[in-house]
Amino acid sequence: MTSFLEARDAVLSRVSPLPPEEVPILEAVGRVLAADVAASLDFPPFDNSAMDGWAVLAADVTGPVCLPVTAFVPAGAALPAPLAPGTAARIMTGGPIPPGADTVVPLEEAAERGGAVELSRRLERGAHVRRRGGDIAAGDVGVRAGAVVGAAEVSFLASAARTTVPVFRRPRVAIVSTGDELVEPGAPLGPGQIHDSNGIAVAAAVVEAGGVPVPLGIARDDAGELRERLAEGLRADVLVTTAGVSMGDRDLVREVLAELGVAPVFFTVEVKPGHPTAFGTRAGTAVLSLPGNPVSTLMMFEQLVRPALLKMQGHRHVLRPLVQAVLDERLAHRAGRVTFARVRLDSRDGALRARSAGKQETFFLRTLLDADGVALLPPERADAPPGISVPVQVLRPAHAR
Ligand code: AMP
Ligand code: MG
Repeated sequence: MTSFLEARDAVLSRVSPLPPEEVPILEAVGRVLAADVAASLDFPPFDNSAMDGWAVLAADVTGPVCLPVTAFVPAGAALPAPLAPGTAARIMTGGPIPPGADTVVPLEEAAERGGAVELSRRLERGAHVRRRGGDIAAGDVGVRAGAVVGAAEVSFLASAARTTVPVFRRPRVAIVSTGDELVEPGAPLGPGQIHDSNGIAVAAAVVEAGGVPVPLGIARDDAGELRERLAEGLRADVLVTTAGVSMGDRDLVREVLAELGVAPVFFTVEVKPGHPTAFGTRAGTAVLSLPGNPVSTLMMFEQLVRPALLKMQGHRHVLRPLVQAVLDERLAHRAGRVTFARVRLDSRDGALRARSAGKQETFFLRTLLDADGVALLPPERADAPPGISVPVQVLRPAHAR
């Protein structure tokens, strides 16, 4: 018997970050840097003005003065001529500070009349000047290995003249749906048939988790067909199968995986939904066999596969944030197992409250559509009455419904 936490640890301890690959910086968004990146240039690359105004020498302004404006320096100007003492240059934001000048007086703080700027107040030397390398100096590490690349990181990388960066490779995830009753989504249904929603739902979950889905379609509940399809799936980094892993007469997945050399690690987990979930490994491939009920499939993907995919991509935070919420109503709970109750969350009187997102049986997909999070009801409780506080995995912000 494998507890939920043992199962999750067993999976996570058997996967590691994949080797890095060099990708264009825009393709790195959402991915994890595999190496520190230092700036190859000073940023900013030259002293420049932070304001539209006048570049002056602070020492020229000891009392009220009138400085002739002898130059105009817009952004993009080449390095201007040195500023003669006792003069000023009109300068725009981003314009290079003329050699000799050390301070910028903003437009709104002085007036220009007859080609001269009138200044009365003493200046703080260096005001409104952005110094070369003052933000990030050449050689400074701007983003570290392990950082998730977002817009700010891309901004740094572009400023540092990087066009590509090393990030951990995305895992390729082969997906095999099993079952005699399945037909492709969109195909007409014969008697007793259903659409294979799991295959594409798992592919969607793989994409959401940053992986690359490799859909291998439907395999019948037939040892020969399963063997062929699963062998193909074992070439990926991760193989996810759905259905055919319980105790039924046609549940052949575990048997065929064992024949193919997959070493079993566990084959049931003390959770609800998702009890008949198996995990094994072969060479570099992690094999997760998820139960067939669509809610169980996606819940066990969420609990075991997603964290594994994130770890393989180098993420350090692989679990959803947990919040504490007070139950507004009694939730169905199976003592002895961690129950994953799909809940809606609301904030009331400064406290987070949770209520059921709908019928909790695993064949009601609607409950998953309506859920903001998953309440983890601990195995040692006999039931889950209103008023108790429980940890909730936040799946999406409440406003995203
Ligand atoms: P099994 O684990 O094979 O007993 O399947 C459990 C339940 O999940 C059955 O009602 C199946 O019809 C259903 N099921 C299995 N595979 C899929 C799938 N790919 N898409 C939707 N439902 C499925
Ligand atoms: Mg079946």
